[in-house]
Amino acid sequence: MTNMITDVVCPFCGTLCDDLEVEVTDDGKKILSVYNACAIGSEKFLHSQASDRLTRPRMQKDDGTWKDVSYSEAIDYTAKMLADAKKPLMYGWSSTSCDAQGVGSELGEAVRAMMDNTATVCHGSTLIAVQDVGIPSCTLGEIKNRADRVIFWGCNPAHAHPRHMSRYSIFPRGFFTGKGSKGRKVIVVDPRVTDTAKLADVHLQLEQGRDYELFDGLRTAFKGEVLPDMVAGIPKEKVREAADLMKSGRFGIIFFGMGVTQSLGKNHNIDAAISTTRDLNDYTKFSIMAMRGHYNVTGSGQVWGWQFGFPYCLDLTRGFARYNPGETSSNDLLRRDEVDAVFVLGSDPGAHFPISSVKKIANLPSVCIDPHMTPTASVCKLHVPVAFVGIEVGGCCYRMDNVPIETRKVVEPPEGMMTDEAFLEKVLDRVKQIKGA
Ligand code: SF4
Repeated sequence: MTNMITDVVCPFCGTLCDDLEVEVTDDGKKILSVYNACAIGSEKFLHSQASDRLTRPRMQKDDGTWKDVSYSEAIDYTAKMLADAKKPLMYGWSSTSCDAQGVGSELGEAVRAMMDNTATVCHGSTLIAVQDVGIPSCTLGEIKNRADRVIFWGCNPAHAHPRHMSRYSIFPRGFFTGKGSKGRKVIVVDPRVTDTAKLADVHLQLEQGRDYELFDGLRTAFKGEVLPDMVAGIPKEKVREAADLMKSGRFGIIFFGMGVTQSLGKNHNIDAAISTTRDLNDYTKFSIMAMRGHYNVTGSGQVWGWQFGFPYCLDLTRGFARYNPGETSSNDLLRRDEVDAVFVLGSDPGAHFPISSVKKIANLPSVCIDPHMTPTASVCKLHVPVAFVGIEVGGCCYRMDNVPIETRKVVEPPEGMMTDEAFLEKVLDRVKQIKGA
């Protein structure tokens, strides 16, 4: 006998698909099949059951080999490392629940840490721009039901968010979009001919790094003013065609990704993207949304926003929150040798940071909390495997449109395995003991 669990939320990308069905054995210990997920989401569920999965913490010895330790020893090591450090960096927080992020914040305050999340290397520039100029946004449900103009700028959901287009943005039939994809016009802005660009009605193949210029060109075209012959490497006629297509819709949306947040101009590009959206509202209804990557990076910004007033790059070393991206961001801190311990949870900087930063992490007292053996785990002194959020333990996560969704537990974690929230709580208790608080 088996059980079919419905309405399961996929804890992989920021789309947070909530319509998965997972077949598990009657004893609730093994996942047999995953339905409705894309290949990446399905693999996350099935891979969580891998026979070679680590189930206990491990310390790295001086010769690079590992020895198993107990969770109590791991808690003690982590608490002492954080309590002894003058300026610990606590990084990650994007692949875990808001519940764990909340405990992590308390721990960060207790040890006066620098705290940062993965926005520091993806949509941090978006967060800065939103603080500068605000953001006219909406939910993915509104896009499904209303959007007839869809722009993907510097993002490739065909690969990075595989069900985004079928659930929300291009293919579904919504309340006012009964014709599905036939009723929508799609514009892709990308220097590359991506698989998403191949689906577009108009592909604006701009020259690399000239996004700001193209936003300005479109804003000029909306007003019918004079354009140079070429804008960002694109003939002006094509820019006017795209501008007219945007203005002629009933409801439009600009989705944007790291192709524009991390190209030349950074937060100024997003200022321009938001201003373009605002201009379009003179003619029709338009919104804009960041294509967030990790399944709860949005939640991390939300939790820190409530608790500290800033969404990333937090400096808690003075006992209150400061924020200055470029100074208090992880890579800048590592580059300047300013931190003396590194704690990573819910991310893999070993795979995403420059090699110079990874080398710095490898030379510091360091702890990695992650269900998997990752590049980060392999350079840290202590690796603590934990239960998978959204598979072995539930918890609140925020979708890319800032809608909170409660993820579900579908199977039991391996016997004795701690959740990251429980581990953080124990470390916090131990830190309070050490500090006599
Ligand atoms: S699109 Fe993202 S959230 Fe949806 S099933 Fe695929 S990986 Fe999971």
